Amino acid sequence: MFAGKSTELVRRVERARIAGRGTLVVAHDLDVRSGAGRVATHSGLGVDSVSVADAAAIVPLVTAGLTLVAVDEAQFFGPALVDVVQGLADDGLDVVVAGLTVTFDGQPFEPLPSLMALAESVTRLTAVCVVCGRDAAYHVRLVPDDGDPRVASPTHVGGAETYEARCRAHRSPGRQ
Ligand SMILES: [Zn+2]
Repeated sequence: MFAGKSTELVRRVERARIAGRGTLVVAHDLDVRSGAGRVATHSGLGVDSVSVADAAAIVPLVTAGLTLVAVDEAQFFGPALVDVVQGLADDGLDVVVAGLTVTFDGQPFEPLPSLMALAESVTRLTAVCVVCGRDAAYHVRLVPDDGDPRVASPTHVGGAETYEARCRAHRSPGRQ
């Protein structure tokens, strides 16, 4: 969160488009922060996207001529995204996946850990800890939530008003 994941995804999609490649950007219905049909970065860059309800809905969107599929905020898709991404990659597509690797309570957040294990290349981006300024691999939720942190829900969607980037030392919700 706040690590520039969407910025990196948009950059890779734009490079592919400049190269004349067919691209598809997929977002989840739960994530409407950028507005439906768009993946946008904190700095205002963006690319058009298609929003779907689940991982299985990505497959029918893949048409002849596509060579790169990008999936933003992959944590919203859950573990089912792993088989879908593997299938696309096995079919010869480049698949770029951006998402959170940990939940807001600091636990591995599927499908990213599995996808990182299976990917040919992984770029680990970190944010900046709001408490001390060190690299932040974690984030904490500022607003109470009763749901399971491992299962994406509409209440998990949020920005700087809901979450803060934190380093290892400051990854518990109370500032220390
Ligand atoms: Zn810190």
